[in-house]
Amino acid sequence: MMSIVDLTPGTLVEGLQRRLKKSLGQNFLLDENITRSIAREADNLRPFHILEIGPGAGALTLALIKLGRPMTVIEKDDHCARYIAQVFGDIPNFQVIHGDALETDLPDFCSHAEDRPILVSNLPYNVASQIYFRFIDADLPLVGMVLMFQREVANRFLAMPGTKHYSALSAISQYYHEIEHVMDVPPEAFKPAPKVTSTVLRFIPRKRELSKPEEDNFRKLVHAAFALRRKTLINSLAGFNGFDKLAWSECLTRLGYEPSVRAESLGFRDFIRIMIGAVPKV
Ligand code: SAM
Repeated sequence: MMSIVDLTPGTLVEGLQRRLKKSLGQNFLLDENITRSIAREADNLRPFHILEIGPGAGALTLALIKLGRPMTVIEKDDHCARYIAQVFGDIPNFQVIHGDALETDLPDFCSHAEDRPILVSNLPYNVASQIYFRFIDADLPLVGMVLMFQREVANRFLAMPGTKHYSALSAISQYYHEIEHVMDVPPEAFKPAPKVTSTVLRFIPRKRELSKPEEDNFRKLVHAAFALRRKTLINSLAGFNGFDKLAWSECLTRLGYEPSVRAESLGFRDFIRIMIGAVPKV
């Protein structure tokens, strides 16, 4: 077996010797400058124990292992999970979980703030947002996350009110995290090359100001508000929380919003005000 100093993303991908599975979003990184930059970005958050989802052939794993921290990976694909265990199995404090990141029990260290856990992943694009929400809902003391998405999805995480990509995903994720653009990654950096550009984002957790039931209500309100994107909030929310249009109109006016306001111009703090402002009457 090769020592890790001799490994590169290219040799790792070549060593896998399997057709890559589109159904599992298998686009593997080949560019070591990019894997190193992602690892550096993760390192800046001063993590201790690293969790990577979807190591694939191990390109990003290799760069993360070089940070010299305990590391755990979760891989769904049988062949990749075996390959990663074979290539990196002798590294101290390295563990492979063969499972689905949407279902498998998350490792214990993720729940311990003193382990300074971090999630790093070039996410499988077909379940990327679902994995993000799994980690939000698990309410873990992560120091942060460094995640790669298709650029179009990343744009929605980053979008500010009043801009083209602003959506329910933007308002909800911005309540949970401060989100920053790290870098765009061109299709040529992967094998096989995807059709679109990818984007790496950094997520820093914000203090959660709402109780769990309030968070659930906030998310329902945001989804209802964006369900009819072009309509005024009063029309989108009619019937929500037992309020008819008149009740919503009164509620919005009482809170200082124009009755013609639309979801796309409201930030997550506005949605929280509206949710809290609407509670006493329901
Ligand atoms: N980390 C590697 C890289 O950057 O080259 C591979 C990233 S590839 C975009 C996504 C990886 O996630 C694949 O290895 C795929 O098998 C794995 N995967 C897909 N769905 C998964 C799931 N639900 N749970 C865990 N791993 C999954």
